[in-house]
Amino acid sequence: MRKPLVVGNWKMNGLRATNRPLLDSVREGVEAGVAAEVAVCPPFVYLADAASALQGSAVSWGAQNLSQHEAGAYTGEVAPSMLRDLGCRFVIVGHSERRTLYGETDSLVAEKVIAAQGAELTPILCVGESLEEREQDVTEQVVKRQLDAVLERIGVSALSKAVIAYEPIWAIGTGRTATPEQAQEVHGLIRSHVAAQSSSVAEELLILYGGSVKGNNATQLLSMPDIDGGLIGGASLNAEEFLTICQAAG
Ligand code: PEP
Repeated sequence: MRKPLVVGNWKMNGLRATNRPLLDSVREGVEAGVAAEVAVCPPFVYLADAASALQGSAVSWGAQNLSQHEAGAYTGEVAPSMLRDLGCRFVIVGHSERRTLYGETDSLVAEKVIAAQGAELTPILCVGESLEEREQDVTEQVVKRQLDAVLERIGVSALSKAVIAYEPIWAIGTGRTATPEQAQEVHGLIRSHVAAQSSSVAEELLILYGGSVKGNNATQLLSMPDIDGGLIGGASLNAEEFLTICQAAG
């Protein structure tokens, strides 16, 4: 049985004055009755604040990125062990904004997944096609290539300590959501691709959907059989809307 998971990706948003009320409301709302697992991923500089606001609660926290290196002369980078030190449970790896704006390649993403797991963080590996790729009908190839780059490095059994997020790039921050059927089709492909190597890993694997999930479309998306929760960007900045999504998942 897969327990649904909803993760808020705050991206580069927030300030201390607004973070605390947001975290408090999410914590209270989740504890008042959300069956799904819930986590938030604030910017690095607010992780310590998130840790103190959420410590001992039903809400976990994580980071949006990490270095593939353990420590050393990497100015501006954040090591996996530092995230663990701040109590992070998750780390988003290979978000499409990292891939497209910061040149993260499939191979770097694989290294980051390895680094995350080495520090006992659960990587949330993001995969997804661009609009152009969808129009060229190569979604399946793109997603399999992104997955295989990691699977070849870590092996299928290590995927039992990871989460996948399918995020079609054309749906991220655009207000244009994949239909539940479009999303289910790719989620089903991902699960059967993993099942070809290990049916038990595939059966337990959490595959989240991300891309303009809102309070008013979450129920249809999250009720599809291979969609196990959501990676939520914009809507995670509003406690009421985020909680509506969390309730729809559970
Ligand atoms: C994301 O950034 O992972 C995301 C899904 O963003 P949004 O929900 O705003 O489309």
